[in-house]
Amino acid sequence: MIAASRRQFLARSAAVGAAAAWSLGAEELPLLHHLVRRGETLSGIARMYGASIRELKVWNGLVGDLILPGQRLELRPQYRLLPLADIVPPKFEADRWRHLILHHSATTAGSARVFHDFHLARGMENGLAYHFVVGNGSHSRDGEVEVGRRWTLQLNGGHVGNDAYNANSIGICLVGNFERTHPSDKQLGALVELLDYLKNKTLRGRARLLLHRDLEQTLCPGRHFPAGRFRELFG
Ligand SMILES: [Zn+2]
Repeated sequence: MIAASRRQFLARSAAVGAAAAWSLGAEELPLLHHLVRRGETLSGIARMYGASIRELKVWNGLVGDLILPGQRLELRPQYRLLPLADIVPPKFEADRWRHLILHHSATTAGSARVFHDFHLARGMENGLAYHFVVGNGSHSRDGEVEVGRRWTLQLNGGHVGNDAYNANSIGICLVGNFERTHPSDKQLGALVELLDYLKNKTLRGRARLLLHRDLEQTLCPGRHFPAGRFRELFG
């Protein structure tokens, strides 16, 4: 009796564990704030979370460097939304970017902020590995384009294994597991708009569209991603 219920319990736990690998539920969202302890400094806290001092100040409306024990600091990155006309950053170097690489998140849910925290926790010092994230209505709106700090600061991506490609490729991730489900019409519409803006207007046609699986042994961005249609439009 006890053995049977223990087996059932273990089986149920294993099933929950397997499901969790594919979905980032709200209950698994990482910590979004930090409670200041005595002796801590803004620069120390910034280092701890892979943020810059300036970012911490912007997120918390701080004017100076003074923080007090017990103060609650928001760690929520501010991702900028459309309109696209506004996303070219001041230090932009068009010649640097040679490829636009498409990914799916391979999770059922997510957003730039969720993946940012996840990638920070995995030891990526700049957090969010992609330059852009296109939401599916889970943690951001369906078809919402979120612009990551790797784009606004023009940093290398961290979205492929090959660092040469990370240095010269713009990484775009659609939230979803397209081995199992299809991207939404709004996601595909937003992706067309984003790629047209980046490739044709911003990079003057020079960047080449690639899928993650063109470079490395992976299914990414999944078999239900309409690859042919996008290669035709932006290859
Ligand atoms: Zn990928």
